[in-house]
Amino acid sequence: MRIYISGLYSGPNPSPGIGIARSLRLAYPDAELVGVDYSNRSSGVHWPNFDEIWLQRPWQELDLRQYQDHIEAVLHSDALWISGLDLETFWLARVLPGHPNLLLPGIKALQSIAKPRIDAHEGLSLNLPPFISTEHPDWELHAFCRKHGWRVWVKGPFYEARRVWSWYDVNVARADLARTWSTDQLFLQAHVAGHEESIALSAYDGELLGCAYMRKRDLTPEGKTWAGQVNDVPAELMDALRESLRALNWTGGAELELIRDGAGTLYLLEWNPRFPAWIHGATLAGRNLPGLLVQRATGYSVKQASVMSPEFVRVVLEIPVRPEFPLPPLPEPSSSSFGLVLKHPSGMPTLLKRLHQERGRPSVPERSQRRSPAIPRSILNDLDAHDLCRVDTPCWLFLESTAETSFRRTAVLARQASSPRIRTLIAYSIKTNPEEKLLKLAQRSGLLAEAISQLEVERVLAAGFSSDCIVLNGPGKWWPSLNNSTPPFRAIFFDSMEEVQHALSGELDNLASVIGVRLRPPQAASRFGIPIDSPRAFRELASAVSALPREHSFGIHLHLASSSVGIDQWWAIYDSLLLWAKTLESASGRTVEMLDLGGGWFPDDWHSDLLPRLEDITTNAAGALPHLRELMLEPGKALAQSSMALATRVLEVRRSQRDVEEVIVDSSIADIPEVFNYPHRMLFRHSNGQRWQPLTRGRSRVLGRLCMEYDVLATHVELPQSIQPGDLVVVCDVGAYDRSTSYVFGRG
Ligand SMILES: *Cc1c(COP(=O)(O)O)cnc(C)c1O
Repeated sequence: MRIYISGLYSGPNPSPGIGIARSLRLAYPDAELVGVDYSNRSSGVHWPNFDEIWLQRPWQELDLRQYQDHIEAVLHSDALWISGLDLETFWLARVLPGHPNLLLPGIKALQSIAKPRIDAHEGLSLNLPPFISTEHPDWELHAFCRKHGWRVWVKGPFYEARRVWSWYDVNVARADLARTWSTDQLFLQAHVAGHEESIALSAYDGELLGCAYMRKRDLTPEGKTWAGQVNDVPAELMDALRESLRALNWTGGAELELIRDGAGTLYLLEWNPRFPAWIHGATLAGRNLPGLLVQRATGYSVKQASVMSPEFVRVVLEIPVRPEFPLPPLPEPSSSSFGLVLKHPSGMPTLLKRLHQERGRPSVPERSQRRSPAIPRSILNDLDAHDLCRVDTPCWLFLESTAETSFRRTAVLARQASSPRIRTLIAYSIKTNPEEKLLKLAQRSGLLAEAISQLEVERVLAAGFSSDCIVLNGPGKWWPSLNNSTPPFRAIFFDSMEEVQHALSGELDNLASVIGVRLRPPQAASRFGIPIDSPRAFRELASAVSALPREHSFGIHLHLASSSVGIDQWWAIYDSLLLWAKTLESASGRTVEMLDLGGGWFPDDWHSDLLPRLEDITTNAAGALPHLRELMLEPGKALAQSSMALATRVLEVRRSQRDVEEVIVDSSIADIPEVFNYPHRMLFRHSNGQRWQPLTRGRSRVLGRLCMEYDVLATHVELPQSIQPGDLVVVCDVGAYDRSTSYVFGRG
């Protein structure tokens, strides 16, 4: 009996070859085991269990046709082949379909386990974590991340996953994975917090031969198994599993990687078409799955393995190097492939590239059309109201009707949510963009204004607000100095215990009708507000609050950006805030009459998630806090972000062959400082053209005019072949912090 086993790398993220060999050695002590790999960096080529090593040229040098013939000859000589490399499995399933000695699944079965959809999961009553293909417009990818609280992974179609925490991370991870795996077909997947479990199995012609359930007991920093406990597959999964394998007509090993969340729900992360690297752990627990596979394929009985332990751990071993495969030196540290060679010694990125080139691409999710982000009609109409043939660029464009609609809708829904008992108030956050047009619009719409400095107070007074329409927040609200003739303000929220003490000294008397505190809930990583995460801190706060002058109403404030903590998390924190507020009421003896929930909403979430729930929150808050009279929100970017666009002109078009590689425009990151923080919808128009064309994803870059490396306004966009100097690019969504934090640079 001669068995070829591929995938011998045995580092912290190992291939299963060694585990398969060890298990087969126990099952068939006399079998000839041949280890196959594609790099002398795969440490397992030195593993003593192998009788022979078949070390191939690296994938980029292999003549695939010839190699296929070799393998076919091997199979004809009655040897078996068990692959430990997913992509080799895909390739062999395609070029040598149905060979009885090739112990791997057919191409159809492989297609139905392709990520991210893993169609085969359907029969198993397992959930898939939510995902979205990166071929969707950036605008939608960003929404996905907000929805899932920035607990997100960027994943490649076969290997590799990167945890990301911000839009910037998404772009870095995506560019990296796209480069490594030569594909744009990546996807984002929501993180599931839970414990990892795994099913290893062995099947032949659709018949389940054996399986094992493994709970990870220790992990490497990359999350790979370092110790585990092996058990029976839960009974409720068994029948479905058997049924699925039959439907897939599965042959070979497989691993289903699962994660069990806190509520006990099981999610399927991956369905790998090979044994897992920990497979020998199952053998030690009395389930020799590679042995069962070979037994079924050959008819030779497997030597019965005894149960050594239901639990296994890994250790690090030094073993002698085979003299015929001396170790190669490290690659030149400066070589670009340095990290890659060490990380993927079996050359999977190269194999994938070759399979792409030969159009023998393993199945990946079908290409969705490159959809462009939907540009609201009102933005296009507002752009048409500007005569861009004449303006000097770069130029800020106020999008009048877009802004109006947003402010008006907010005001109307706030009025509708109000009742005789409780009013819903909206205060526009001035710092987000103190542009006069926006302040006036806020005032005309009947909104209040939220200020963080006395300079902002002066500015809104000048815009026509009265002082009782002003709410003061933040750590420096009295800076640079208080004009005593201004107050009383509508509300003041203290950011620290020091500020509360200041109020107790009497100096702030009669400054506002409501005084209150900004809380820093224990779940929130924030530098603002009064911490309440220890009983002592809470007691001190309660006693200070009870001493606050009774002629003021008392209020509570929270501001945590849902755009960064995520929408679901925001609502969870809101719920807990109500509990804190109730607790503070009973501990201090003061009733909460105003609840201010701050801002931090991305415009789309504000309009599609928060505003429709405004009435519910108001009733709900009133139910929790019986003395509540006012509920307030302080949107900034929710109202301002889409209210402005930036028009810029193309200065130069750079081509390679005939393709547009990049264009230089006359604006820069000095005008759009937030360009890396969230996607900006962009439009293009010829200098004398009429029609705006949204920029979709492509291969070109839009570069700023500054002599700064990082002045890159967009990567991966499709620019029309006909683009010329003088043509216009409009960057939307710049009406919030882009505008207010833009700076003068490179203008002499
Ligand atoms: C900045 C700020 C806001 C507005 O935040 P956006 O992210 O622009 O919505 C609201 N309230 C307070 C206290 C703020 O500091």
